[in-house]
Amino acid sequence: MARNRYYQSAHWRSLKHATHQRDGWKCTVIGCGSSAELVCDHIQTRPNVDRPTCADTLANTRTLCGFHDRQIKESSKGKRRREGRATAVGCRPDGTPLDPNHPWHRKAR
Ligand SMILES: [Zn+2]
Repeated sequence: MARNRYYQSAHWRSLKHATHQRDGWKCTVIGCGSSAELVCDHIQTRPNVDRPTCADTLANTRTLCGFHDRQIKESSKGKRRREGRATAVGCRPDGTPLDPNHPWHRKAR
C-alpha cells in the first residue's frame, strides 16, 4: 500500500520535528521514556488526504517509541488497536502497574 504523500511534505517534516522537540525526543507513554525508533503519532487519526488538515497540529500529535507505535497502529482495516491507547509496561517498586489504564487503578466502590 502506497503511503499518503502528505508524509513526504515539508509540513509533516516540520510538525514531526516540532513534536519530538516538545516531547524531549522521548516516548510520551507514562513510564516508558524510550528514545528508540521514535515516531510522530496522530492522537486522532487524520483524514487520508495528501494535504495538511486541521488534524495536523501539535495539539494532535505525540512522540511514541517503536514499541508503543506498533502496539496501537491501525490494523489493515484502518481501525486503531486499543482505541489508540498505549499501555505502559512494568510496575513501580511497590508492584503498582505503571499503566494508568490498568484495572488496579480503577476506583474502589
Ligand atoms: Zn514507549
